[in-house]
Amino acid sequence: MCAQIYFYQSLNNPMSMLRFEALKQALNRVPVSVEPPAKKVSDYFGMNVFDKKAMKSSLPPSVYKRLMATIEKGEKLDASQADAISSAMKAWAIERSATHYTHWFQPLTGSTAEKHDAFFDLSSDGEVIEKFKGSALVQQEPDASSFPSGGLRNTFEARGYTAWDPTSPAFLIETGYGRTLCIPTIFVSYTGEALDHKTPLLKSADLLDKAATAACQFFDKDVRKVHTSLGIEQEFFVVDKALYYARPDLVLSGRTLFGHAPAKGQQLEDHYFGSIPTRVQLFMQDFEIEALKLGIPVHTRHNEVAPGQFECAPIFEEANLAIDHNLLLMDIMEKVAEKHSLKVLFHEKPFAGINGSGKHNNWSMVTNTGINLLAPSSKAKENLQFLVFFINTMKAVYENADVLRASIASAGNDFRLGANEAPPAIMSVFVGKQLTDVLEELEHNATVKIEKGDNMYIKLGINKIPEILMDNTDRNRTSPFAFTGNKFEFRAVGSSANSAAAIMVLNTIVADQLFKFVKDVDALVEKGEKREVAIVNILRDYIKTSKNIRFEGNGYSQEWVDEAKKRGLSNITNTPDAVNAYISAKSKALFSQHGVLSEIELHARHEIMLENYIRKVQIESRALGNLATNQVIPVAIAYQNTLIQNVKGLKDIGLEKEAKAMVERIKELSTYIAGITENIDAMLEERKKANKLDTHERAHAYCHKIKPYFDKIRYNVDKLEITLPDSMWSIAKYRELLFVK
Ligand code: ADP
Ligand code: MG
Repeated sequence: MCAQIYFYQSLNNPMSMLRFEALKQALNRVPVSVEPPAKKVSDYFGMNVFDKKAMKSSLPPSVYKRLMATIEKGEKLDASQADAISSAMKAWAIERSATHYTHWFQPLTGSTAEKHDAFFDLSSDGEVIEKFKGSALVQQEPDASSFPSGGLRNTFEARGYTAWDPTSPAFLIETGYGRTLCIPTIFVSYTGEALDHKTPLLKSADLLDKAATAACQFFDKDVRKVHTSLGIEQEFFVVDKALYYARPDLVLSGRTLFGHAPAKGQQLEDHYFGSIPTRVQLFMQDFEIEALKLGIPVHTRHNEVAPGQFECAPIFEEANLAIDHNLLLMDIMEKVAEKHSLKVLFHEKPFAGINGSGKHNNWSMVTNTGINLLAPSSKAKENLQFLVFFINTMKAVYENADVLRASIASAGNDFRLGANEAPPAIMSVFVGKQLTDVLEELEHNATVKIEKGDNMYIKLGINKIPEILMDNTDRNRTSPFAFTGNKFEFRAVGSSANSAAAIMVLNTIVADQLFKFVKDVDALVEKGEKREVAIVNILRDYIKTSKNIRFEGNGYSQEWVDEAKKRGLSNITNTPDAVNAYISAKSKALFSQHGVLSEIELHARHEIMLENYIRKVQIESRALGNLATNQVIPVAIAYQNTLIQNVKGLKDIGLEKEAKAMVERIKELSTYIAGITENIDAMLEERKKANKLDTHERAHAYCHKIKPYFDKIRYNVDKLEITLPDSMWSIAKYRELLFVK
């Protein structure tokens, strides 16, 4: 067969046809216009939420009052009150065309789950009625067998139930002609163990409330409650839908397993804060409208550093609500993207060599009296209070860095943590120049003066802390845990993660630390020390002991890795190792002592995280093998054959030297082809071995024995991508995926 025919055949490779068809579609897209339901956001914000306003106008006053007491103080509701609420909720929902209701919960797989039931029912005499009883609002029993339980719940029993979380309001989701009433719930096993993210989060919030309220008593007896505020910045990539489907690896694993870096990557960094491409902007406006209708206060949108990468952020809310809203927002984004023929990628590292995505968790504590406990104040007393919460948080991170690291561990985040464009796997705290000075001063020189009456002041070298702090502009974007003026920003959380895992740990460790602080201060006061002096002395001690966690330099540098090692800070770069911190003796004592998670629950979580990890790497390994075998090797061989024909032709016409040169290219191709097939075979062997091991060993095998093949295979595939004719390549290229038209 002559070379031309070979070449012609490869061009007709149906797979590469798919790529070109996708490109054609992507280039011909017309922006889809977007229309908000009203001009002013205030006219439609929360229109799909059964919020306090809706409750107040539809519930009998006594029931409304009772429900507020439940929400604010955790008081119990009785069955008749639940019936009254469900009946009002049903009327509200049906009036807005809802046909179904569902309990909406957060299984440990990372996404959200729902099981829809219709409102309509048949009465005993066969009449169709609309029904939604209090009991259906409060509790449901979904078929739980398919959700991960880490061995907690025997799948044969499949008994887990969902229970209403009244602190997060019910909302309506629009799909097709009808709407569904979604009721946020926790998800627990029949024996009461948490099977979800929300249950321990709520417990940790209660715990932090108790601890922080106790610490606040030193300063203000009127503080009755402290809640955590959370603002979640969400980073994501956007790619054209058709091109997405021309990337089986993206479809199967959420990230690209191959792909040569484009000639124009993010080297120029001209994407950041540049103008958002029209199609993407319309998509963002569209999902923002949907989010606003659901009471999600989305506020900021901008390009991110990498091409095709964007970010949105809402105004902060109470943490439980902020987390529900973030999950809901991710859902909405995925749905709305369809309308714009786009796909959103929440994976932490969808493209090698290009910035990854995170979910920055801006976290603080706020009292019922309206004081942000991490905001410096102009009053000396409140400033000492600020220092108490600030230093205790730092100390908590220092003492519990490993379990905090575990809380953000996932297969996806492993590619991001420690890569040179994401915070490292080493936990450290950035506080900024001014606060560093304050801490130094407090450690070495500060004296406390108590004036007559209740007044006191700390004599620091720098006496104007508040003004300086309010203008805390020296941001450090390389720190995993940075103080940013009036909150801490936990930047190491992965973009696809449920923030609840990280916030639950953060709440718990800070609460634990605050309890210790109160005890330490009380002990000194009992010995006769003035309270303020005792507080400063304890803080001084904490500053000294936790000093090693503070780092102000470049977190992405090798120097920091070396320095952190000297300081004895852990740098755990993979999930199977990181999640061990969940089952350490220290963690078991910490979480069970405070009733946030029992030992059994910690073991279950550990197991589930390992299983999730194995599943992800296994899928990637399979997808990688299949894609290379079915779409890369065949075209590489076809091209090699055309070159072989070419060598023969060259020889026929007497061009021996040229033929020889061509043979070298053929050999080069053979090396790449062999580099792929041999490594795939070896990877397969390792997989077979790994699959015989128990969960813990299997996770390690997937991490250390199987995953290393990914890079080896990828190297050869990427070489082929730049060697083979573009027309033959069937997998959409980075340059096509990254620059959305
Ligand atoms: P940047 O990208 O500079 O970090 P953004 O404006 O994108 O800033 O995001 C900051 C996030 O921090 C927002 O979600 C904001 O609501 C939140 N935030 C601000 N103050 C607080 C606070 N006291 N507690 C929690 N979150 C806060
Ligand atoms: Mg930020």
